[in-house]
Amino acid sequence: MATERSERTRTQPTRILIAGGGYVGLYTALGLQRKLRGGEASVTVVDPQPHMTYQPFLPEAAAGSIEPRHVVVPLRKVLKRCHVLTGRIRGIEHDTKVAMVETPHGHTERVEYDVLVIALGSVARTLPIPGLAERGIAFKTIGEAIYLRNHVLSMLDLASTTTDVDLRRRLLTFVVVGGGYAGIEALAELEDMARYASRFYEGIDSDDMRWVLVEAMGRIMPEVRPSLGVYTVRQLTERDIQVYLDTRVKSVEHGHVVLDDGTVFDADTVIWTAGVKANPALAATDLPLDDRGRVRCTAALQIRGVRDAWAAGDNAAVPDLSRTAEDPSATCSPSAQHAVRQAKRLSDNIVRVLRGNQPRPYRHPYAGSVASLGLYKGVADVYGLKIKGVVAWVLHRAYHVSRMPTLNRKVRVAFDWLGALILGREVVALGQVNDPKADFVRVAHGGSPSSE
Ligand SMILES: Cc1cc2nc3c(=O)[nH]c(=O)nc-3n(C[C@H](O)[C@H](O)[C@H](O)COP(=O)(O)OP(=O)(O)OC[C@H]3O[C@@H](n4cnc5c(N)ncnc54)[C@H](O)[C@@H]3O)c2cc1C
Repeated sequence: MATERSERTRTQPTRILIAGGGYVGLYTALGLQRKLRGGEASVTVVDPQPHMTYQPFLPEAAAGSIEPRHVVVPLRKVLKRCHVLTGRIRGIEHDTKVAMVETPHGHTERVEYDVLVIALGSVARTLPIPGLAERGIAFKTIGEAIYLRNHVLSMLDLASTTTDVDLRRRLLTFVVVGGGYAGIEALAELEDMARYASRFYEGIDSDDMRWVLVEAMGRIMPEVRPSLGVYTVRQLTERDIQVYLDTRVKSVEHGHVVLDDGTVFDADTVIWTAGVKANPALAATDLPLDDRGRVRCTAALQIRGVRDAWAAGDNAAVPDLSRTAEDPSATCSPSAQHAVRQAKRLSDNIVRVLRGNQPRPYRHPYAGSVASLGLYKGVADVYGLKIKGVVAWVLHRAYHVSRMPTLNRKVRVAFDWLGALILGREVVALGQVNDPKADFVRVAHGGSPSSE
């Protein structure tokens, strides 16, 4: 059933709808609520989650260095002058300026708007690999980070409780597919955490674990220069992490991993970080998309060929003006670095156009990347400098805490780090969070809780 939502906004001169409350959505809304004069426009943000996720901190949240709640920013708390709708965009008809929003209980609302911002981000890019949907897990949301932390520790719990050699081996084998910064950081942080945790598990030595990275290309971390990618591979192999380059996963059916070089082994954990693609929800809009499913944009972040529509971030094909002289088709890479800066330009441009001025183009040369490889280990390639080890790790933390939205979150993250450094990391699996009702359902049916 669809209901009209126009009543609340009828008195507003311009209704701005932001589809997605991640990096671009949050920063655009923050910019608008700061720049807009009272009564000039209303801003509504739609996202299925009531929070923005600071994705570069997900690996540290998974590793227990940061409390997961501190990695997310509650939209309602920081967007005090905006409307926040918890729902999922199911379709947009920009021709009539209506978005269909599905609420968490399955009801569909028609949301009318005057100006649209597309900030739906990206999703994991998957391949038709047998068993992947059943066995794999992505690493893009706070739920996945929490799940993986519990899952990896649960595997140690289970392995320390069995004497079955094959089962132990399978439980203690962890595979990450995809060697971009998301995959490398997830692998390095989780392995570091599991290695630390293993000392508390009787009968498990850190050498009993097998951590595997599979990457289809001949190098990892294309975000940094090749020599730093080589350094990172060396770092990982020195930690006994097995790195398969130029290798593809053929199947993970029933946890039986088959690689295209003939390697086979069993693993209960397959983490899929082999790239991203634009949010498929864009296909249910009448907006122009490129061959990668991204919204076609001008350098000023306006959607091409339509009025009153803007986009930025992972779901937008924005010309990269710092590279178009060599390659006229170059577009900005999907990164937080571009997303945050584009969002600032975007909110500025919307206000400029509302006030009758011309929008300005977005231009930002890629500044490089920083990555954490576990406690006191890192790699960075910033402004032409190649940095390794503990200095890169400190730089990674300093950079990201400075970028974390709101002072509240910066302080909480800093205290989490301090607590973990002084008291050590928490290494307990809270596996029940995955299915907290299970015991109650069993008891209600006259059985015993599984944990007894
Ligand atoms: C583990 C990890 C580590 C990373 N580390 C770095 C790093 O170190 N440096 C760097 O530059 N980049 C990094 N990135 C990439 C960076 O986080 C992304 O490029 C950035 O988040 C893109 O911002 P965005 O606003 O386009 O998308 P997002 O931040 O993903 O926001 C999209 C939003 O849209 C919402 N949404 C999805 N579908 C719908 C729908 N149908 N309706 C309404 N809302 C919807 C989502 O819930 C989300 O809130 C990392 C990414 C990951 C996963």
